[in-house]
Amino acid sequence: MELERGLQILFNLDDGMVIETIVIPCSTGRTTVCVSSQVGCAMNCQFCYTGRMGLRKHLRTSEIVEQAVFARRLFSSEFGSITNVVFMGMGEPLHNIENVLKASAIMVDDQGLHFSPRKVTVSTSGLVPQIKHFLSKSNCALAVSLNATTDEVRNWIMPINRKYNLSLLLGTLKEEIRSKHRYKVLFEYVMLAGVNDSIEDAKRLIELIRGIPCKINLISFNPHSGSRFRPTTDEKMVEFRNFLASAGCVVFMRPSRGDDRMAACGQLGEPGVIQPPMLRPPPRFQMAL
Ligand code: SF4
Repeated sequence: MELERGLQILFNLDDGMVIETIVIPCSTGRTTVCVSSQVGCAMNCQFCYTGRMGLRKHLRTSEIVEQAVFARRLFSSEFGSITNVVFMGMGEPLHNIENVLKASAIMVDDQGLHFSPRKVTVSTSGLVPQIKHFLSKSNCALAVSLNATTDEVRNWIMPINRKYNLSLLLGTLKEEIRSKHRYKVLFEYVMLAGVNDSIEDAKRLIELIRGIPCKINLISFNPHSGSRFRPTTDEKMVEFRNFLASAGCVVFMRPSRGDDRMAACGQLGEPGVIQPPMLRPPPRFQMAL
C-alpha cells in the first residue's frame, strides 16, 4: 500500500453511484479520513473537479458514517489508527446539513466513533444560514473555504459568493463565534497563480479576518483536466505565508498529495457529458489563465 500520497477508497452505493473517501497519513502520526457528503456538488467552484459533476445526490447519514467506520476498520495499528475526520471529500457538506449534523454527532458520541469534536472538521464554501445553524447545533470544528480577498474574484471562482458575499460571510462568523468558548475557524485558501496569491491579497486577507479567532491553511492547487488555473510556485507560497505570519496570523502550508491520482481535495469524482458552465473571468484576470 502506497500511503505517502493518501489511500483512495471507492464505495458503491445501493443505487449504483460511486463515492470516494481518502485516507491521508501524516508524518506527525496523524491519520485523517476525508469523507464525502454528496455525490457531486452544486456549488460550481471554478477550480474544483468535483464541481464539474454538478449535484447528483445528497448522501444519507449512514452513507457518510460508513466511510469513517470502514476507514477505521481498514487501518490497523500497522499503519496507525484514524485520528481525524474531515468533511472535505465530494460535496458541500452544509448543503446536506441535516445528514451531516447527524453523521458528525455519531462520530463524536461516546457510543459512536468517540472522536473529540476538535478532531472532526466540517468544511463549507460559505452557506451563511447553514453556518449559523451548524454553529448553534454542533461543537465540531468548522473550515471555511475562502480562496479570495475581493468579491470580484470570489464571485468568479466561487459563485456562492454572489449570494453570500465576503462581508456577510465574515461578519456572520465574527458574530457567531463570539459566544463559543475557545473556538477557532479554519480558513482554507487554495493558491491560484496570478488570481489570489499577491502580497496585496495577503494584506487584504489580514484585514478581512481581523477579529475572527482563526487559523489559515494555504493549499497548493492540484491542476486537473478541465481546469484553467495554475498552481502558485512554492517560493511565492512561502512568501505569502511569511507575510501573514509576520502580521501575527496562525498559518500553515499544506503540500499537495495524491495529485497524480485524482485523489486530492477538489479533485474527486467523475464529471459527465453535461457539466455546469465555466464562468467568464473578470477581464484583468484573463492573462492569469
Ligand atoms: S470546492 Fe467544495 S463546494 Fe466547491 S464545488 Fe468543489 S466540492 Fe463543491
